Amino acid sequence: MINFTRKRTQMPEQNAELRRTSFTESQTGYTEEMAICEAMRCLKCREHPCMTRGCPVHNHIPAFIDCICEGRFEDAYNILRKTTCLPAVCGRVCPHEEQCEGNCVRGIKGDSVSIGALERFVADWHREHCTDNVDHEIEKNGRRVAVIGAGPAGLAAAGDLATLGYDVTIFEKTDVIGGVLAYGIPEFRLPKAIVSNEIRKLQDRKVNFELGKTLGADFSLDDLQGNMGFDAVFLGIGAGVAQTMDIPGEDLNDCYLAQDFLNTVNLRQNSELQFPKYRRIAIVGGGNVAMDACRSAVRTGAEKVMIVYRRSETEMPAYEGEINEARAEGVEFVFLTRPTEVLGTDGRVTGLKCLKTKLGEDDSRGYRKPVDIPGTEHVIEADCVIMAVGNGSDADLVEKCGLKCDRKGRIEVDPVTCETSRRGVYAGGDAVTGPLTVISAMGAGRRAAVAIHNRLSED
Ligand SMILES: Cc1cc2nc3c(=O)[nH]c(=O)nc-3n(C[C@H](O)[C@H](O)[C@H](O)COP(=O)(O)OP(=O)(O)OC[C@H]3O[C@@H](n4cnc5c(N)ncnc54)[C@H](O)[C@@H]3O)c2cc1C
Repeated sequence: MINFTRKRTQMPEQNAELRRTSFTESQTGYTEEMAICEAMRCLKCREHPCMTRGCPVHNHIPAFIDCICEGRFEDAYNILRKTTCLPAVCGRVCPHEEQCEGNCVRGIKGDSVSIGALERFVADWHREHCTDNVDHEIEKNGRRVAVIGAGPAGLAAAGDLATLGYDVTIFEKTDVIGGVLAYGIPEFRLPKAIVSNEIRKLQDRKVNFELGKTLGADFSLDDLQGNMGFDAVFLGIGAGVAQTMDIPGEDLNDCYLAQDFLNTVNLRQNSELQFPKYRRIAIVGGGNVAMDACRSAVRTGAEKVMIVYRRSETEMPAYEGEINEARAEGVEFVFLTRPTEVLGTDGRVTGLKCLKTKLGEDDSRGYRKPVDIPGTEHVIEADCVIMAVGNGSDADLVEKCGLKCDRKGRIEVDPVTCETSRRGVYAGGDAVTGPLTVISAMGAGRRAAVAIHNRLSED
């Protein structure tokens, strides 16, 4: 039976006033009844564009939704697990509105089916009701693979390779597993307990973790493929090098890089090293990282939190939903404004010197260029500034490894196998694409795992 209601079943959510004061997850997920009601809105169309065009890992969306309609939640989970190793994460943070839901036929007239919320429901239901039957007896095939970086790309590659019988070791430079999932995406969008639960499943598959071990400092690619005895290497090192604006005052005590700020609020919420309390926080940037930073800044108890962005709202790269959430939580938006200096006294931030801008010609990416308006210099009062102006690849490391890369330091790979210019070394995720999405990083990790298996099975 199809539910022809045009409106989707809303996921319960804390109101904005409550959200502002807490890092706990703002959306609470579907009940079983809500999930069945929403699943029944699927039209069961023939083409399945949600899956074929919309999902980078081709989750079998119609099949898992069918199972929900019949109340077979565990079967729905097993269908999802065939193509994604992080359904509870992807159900929460994938840009569904651009991917599966953006291609849903239901969306042509009315709301698309809430596929992300259904994926989340299935993964949460499984976590709450079932124990994973991990096959502890996976027969090892005697071959060893090193994975560098414990983000979604590395975790996905490691999970698949371990299931195929490889002896997999993940080397991670920090002391946490999960990459951006652990230290970047805030708790109120992605609870760390959810990430840990997905990681535990990998640990159950006997993947070895070497934390605090950095490629380029503690060992090299030559070491890995030489005396350390690995048959293949996968690089999932992300794009974690933060860019700065290169303006005076960025070195002041209360001026932070967004990733350092998010790292502190994500990983040290219950420690004495908590982020200090500021009165007026200005976040520079207009992307999704800026949205996570401003919404986190609100939750640190600041009286006023502002986004300062040099273009207008139309050009903001952040998702509309995130902008709306930030606004509802009280963030102010200052558009067409370009910071020129972080001002300070005695090493402490006192404000942000800015110029007003107007929009000019399109740049090479088709964005209208902001042009300074002379004589519009002014100061925005702030005692803390957070720079969220983009991240890039670790070009020095890539060069040190002797791998081919583009001028931005993104590693060049074969698009099918993910193999780099060095035989036996594969790469995927943000290190190859530049900052993108969890699901695309995971997809690359899985493609590389297949290619590594094919190569090592030939040898
Ligand atoms: C604040 C923020 C919010 C985001 N929100 C979303 C979202 O809502 N939805 C979404 O889909 N995407 C989101 N993204 C993007 C997404 O998180 C990334 O695309 C994804 O994490 C990339 O995965 P990855 O495995 O390639 O890299 P990462 O997650 O960056 O992981 C790379 C790992 O490699 C490690 N590493 C790096 N260099 C070395 C080395 N030399 N030796 C050993 N280890 C090393 C790093 O410490 C890290 O753990 C967000 C990103 C940020 C920064």
